[in-house]
Formats: sequence, C-alpha cells, structure tokens
Amino acid sequence: MENPEISFECKCCGTCCGSDLDIYLNTTDILNLRACLSLPTFEMRDRFYRTFTLPEYGAYPLCLLSHRDGACQFLDGKLCSIHPMRPGGCRLFPAVQYFDSSGEQVYSLGKGYDFCTGVSEGKNIKMSDWLEENDFSIYSGNIEFQKKIGFLGRIKIDQRIKDGLIEILFDFDSLPEFPYKENYEKEIGSMIEKRDWILSFADEYVRENVKK
Ligand code: SF4
Ligand code: SF4
Repeated sequence: MENPEISFECKCCGTCCGSDLDIYLNTTDILNLRACLSLPTFEMRDRFYRTFTLPEYGAYPLCLLSHRDGACQFLDGKLCSIHPMRPGGCRLFPAVQYFDSSGEQVYSLGKGYDFCTGVSEGKNIKMSDWLEENDFSIYSGNIEFQKKIGFLGRIKIDQRIKDGLIEILFDFDSLPEFPYKENYEKEIGSMIEKRDWILSFADEYVRENVKK
C-alpha cells in the first residue's frame, strides 16, 4: 500500500457532521452502532441508516448513514456523540479509501472538502499513522470481504437474492440463524467473532446463490 502524507488538524467546528456528506457503512460499522446503542439492527435500519443498490453498481449492497435536517443524527453540538464507535468513513475523514482499477486498496486525501478548515492547516502525517491513530485496523476483515464481493458491482441478480444479502450484512438481527441476538458486548474479541460469523454466512450465501 502506498503511504502518502496528508496535512490535517481537526478544528472541531462540526461542519462535516452538520453537512449532508455521504457516509457509507459496512457490517463492522453496523456492529459498532449496534453495540453503542444496544439496539437490534431491525430497530436501527431505516431509522439510522438505509440500505439499497444502485443500477450503476449492479448488485453491490450499499448502506448509507441517514441524516436528519441535513445533519448527522449523532451530532451533539459540534461533537460526535458516538465518537469511539463512529463509522469508518468518519474515522478516515478527510481521507478516503477505495479500490483502484487493478483492485489495489488505496487511501488518499478526499476531494471537494473545501469546507473543512482543518485540511492543509495541520501537521503533516503519514497515512499509516493516520489509520493507526483512528483505530482503522478493525476494518481490515471487512475491507477484504468487500473486495471479494466487488464483482457484484458488475452483474445483475434477482431482487430477492439482493435483499437477502442486504439483510445478512446490515440487518443480521432479523436472521433466525444469527447466534448473537441481544449480545451487545463491545469487547474487541466479541465484536470480531460476530463480524466473522456474519461475513462467513454472507460468503456462503453468495457462493450458493450467485453465479459469477
Ligand atoms: S469540517 Fe474539518 S475541521 Fe471541522 S470538524 Fe470536520 S474534520 Fe474537523
Ligand atoms: S457519526 Fe459522528 S463523526 Fe460521523 S458524521 Fe455523525 S456525528 Fe460526525
């Protein structure tokens, strides 16, 4: 992985969280939110996040943090009320993560963040240090899985199969098979165990239901 430097220091103005910036969520984010709020996914879905697919991304399952009145629902004054469990996109900001055309994982400074006064005003920091400072390593398993199902972005599948995958990844408390119902433990080992169960269930589901 390339390790560029970014220049950044957050001024805690709250502008990013008070804007309608798109924050995409993955299963690790949903698990964090679930542990933070002690709520099952079927009570959080449609209230705190929405799930969907887009024609330009084929059958790839997407999940977006919902806003209220143009601001994040977890913004408290100028600060994040769920900061230790905030989504990966918020941890990375103003950096972004994506896969390039060769499938390589790339981290870089995001574009179009002129509203953020912290960009270019702070100290230079290596991307690897930025990721470590923001505990981004908890996302590695999820990012590998997202890469694995990247081919879904290039194919069409039956709506019922798409809905099933979305339920596994983002509303797993609704699955009769989910073995961790009402278990909201935040301890890292417990979180990894739940994530691995969900991603392995999703992997099997894709293998059984989707032809590449
Ligand atoms: S807009 Fe920039 S400076 Fe303001 S809170 Fe967000 S990251 Fe920090
Ligand atoms: S979850 Fe927290 S850090 Fe992320 S947009 Fe909302 S208030 Fe900001």
